[in-house]
Amino acid sequence: MRALTVESLDVRHGLLQAVRGVSFSVGSGETLALVGANGAGKTTLLRAVAGAHPPANGRVLLDDADITHVPSHRRVAMGIALVPEGRRLFPQMTVEENLLLGRTAGRPGEWSVERVFEMFPNLKARRAARAGNLSGGEQQATAIGRALMTNPELLLLDEVSLGLSPLIVERVYQSLQKLIDTGMTVVLVEQDLARAMAVADRIVCMLEGRIVLERTTDEVTREEITQAYFGLRKAGQQGSMHP
Ligand code: ATP
Repeated sequence: MRALTVESLDVRHGLLQAVRGVSFSVGSGETLALVGANGAGKTTLLRAVAGAHPPANGRVLLDDADITHVPSHRRVAMGIALVPEGRRLFPQMTVEENLLLGRTAGRPGEWSVERVFEMFPNLKARRAARAGNLSGGEQQATAIGRALMTNPELLLLDEVSLGLSPLIVERVYQSLQKLIDTGMTVVLVEQDLARAMAVADRIVCMLEGRIVLERTTDEVTREEITQAYFGLRKAGQQGSMHP
């Protein structure tokens, strides 16, 4: 599986700098959770890693290869898959057709429509249903399945639990845990701290475009993350808002 390194990344939306000098790395097979308030820059960062948004400065490395200027479709072919916020399925196409789209952009490998249905058994009965008619949970499963169909080695997940009922979130995370257990490298944006801490090896908290906390999950407390989340950490601590 692939390792990711992000170095001093700046990403802008016009005049607004959404990501400011962000550096972090994710080892092969590691799961990193990105947390932070709305507007902290998590989605923008994930999109920059996927090649969907060009950075203004800094570098993105996949293993040792500098992919900063590699277009998104080639990043997919290199093994990076993004499950975007809001799922972005083709609503008029069936579940199966949406899944097969992942194959056209991707790489050869083990993932097939049938294997996606093994991971998300509830989806199987819906294979011929239009994506626009699915429940939120089914749509999320389809979006993850489509990413898996590219045979990724680095999976980027943006708020996969958004808008889902607790039961469905539980199911999605059970499937995610299975993927993590296969050794896939994962970066996920998750608003639910307990969930993020349960699934990730490491937590990165962003505030106003910067990383304000980075710790392994076994050495961080919920309180420390919450303080970083709201910018309440004391000056002088690593990642303080006022360096
Ligand atoms: P959320 O949880 O709400 O998705 P986030 O942490 O993912 O938040 P981003 O969506 O990356 O944050 O947004 C970071 C900043 O960039 C915010 O100030 C946001 O308003 C701004 N922004 C995001 N997308 C755009 C865009 N397409 N055009 C202009 N500004 C944008």
